[in-house]
Amino acid sequence: MGTVKRIVRKGSLLGEMGFIKGGGNVNWFPGHMAAATRAIRDRLKLSDFVIEVRDARIPLSSANNELQSMLVGKKRVIALNKKELANPNIMHKWIRYFDSREQDCLSINAHSKSSVKKLLDLVEFKLKERISREPTLLVMVVGVPNVGKSALINSIQQIASNRFPLQEKRKRATVGPLPGVTQDIAGFKIAHGPSIYVLDTPGVLVPSIPDIETGLKLAVAGSVKDSIVGEERIVQYILALLSIRGTPVHWKNLDERETEGLNLNPVDKPDYDLKNLVPTRRRKPPSKSDVYYIEDVVTEVQRALFVTLTEFNGDLEDEDDLENLIELQFDALQKALKVPHKTSEARTIISKKFLTLFRAGKLGTFILDDVP
Ligand code: GDP
Repeated sequence: MGTVKRIVRKGSLLGEMGFIKGGGNVNWFPGHMAAATRAIRDRLKLSDFVIEVRDARIPLSSANNELQSMLVGKKRVIALNKKELANPNIMHKWIRYFDSREQDCLSINAHSKSSVKKLLDLVEFKLKERISREPTLLVMVVGVPNVGKSALINSIQQIASNRFPLQEKRKRATVGPLPGVTQDIAGFKIAHGPSIYVLDTPGVLVPSIPDIETGLKLAVAGSVKDSIVGEERIVQYILALLSIRGTPVHWKNLDERETEGLNLNPVDKPDYDLKNLVPTRRRKPPSKSDVYYIEDVVTEVQRALFVTLTEFNGDLEDEDDLENLIELQFDALQKALKVPHKTSEARTIISKKFLTLFRAGKLGTFILDDVP
């Protein structure tokens, strides 16, 4: 990992970011987000429990450092969402890490009801363990952008309306921080005796970005806009990581053009933009043949990266060598992704396509943060 860190610090690979040149800061977020964090404090005061959603691919980088100070006297569970995109073997280590710090933590998939039910059971257990008399308890969902807060709240709403079919669509829980001072807050009832409501609006936290690498990881996960970092830089970072950590073992099969036994999941419920991967002349809703087309692309991309890496005889610990490898990989990706040479924005197109595949888990499952 040392070389990636050095390259990131050196800035040659990632270049010209305000962070490096002139010592200024990258403006990662629009100003209104800071104001939003302040507004969260008020709602947090009313809440009894917090579900902090993080991206399972970056269990630490998707945290907000100020949150802890806002949580005094409150219980919290960390929901590591998008678990199906995270390497399960490393996920276990992360769960153990949080356990060892006595921090409740669960890996979830916000789109899966059974997964979200487990989370709600844990919330209920944690709340009832402590309080059995409060008439109304409130649970707030918080997290940095794009970690799946809305997806989670949607699933919670569906579960809630199954559990309590008679509740109004958006049950308003009347609560107050002080007796006699009440406030209407909309939420979904998930339990009775005591009544537990999950607030329908999540709290959006501003990510903490102490260094560029954290910023890049957040960009990979989509919590920072691509345009802020630039798609090409995000891809350079991913390629550096893949080369240094080693591409997944099963990719080697591609070298022999054997596709049998490959773990290429069929695209069942894609939530990414398939259109971007389909050649322009076939721009129409994805059909079954497009799905096969995408599987072909995935195989080609994996092969391109695997072959360039195995044929490379430079030193991965050397920054210049690694940069050269990444250049070769971009060329190989251009062919694999069938991006025409003449396009002046070829680099951006390659990067966008590659990111779509990577983020959808098509190139395998990864966890970018290292367990401390
Ligand atoms: P928010 O900004 O935190 O509210 O995030 P959203 O709920 O809008 O989700 C951001 C993106 O992540 C959307 O494209 C969701 O479909 C996707 N997403 C949310 N949860 C999951 C999950 O568990 N797995 C996967 N693969 N995608 C998810």
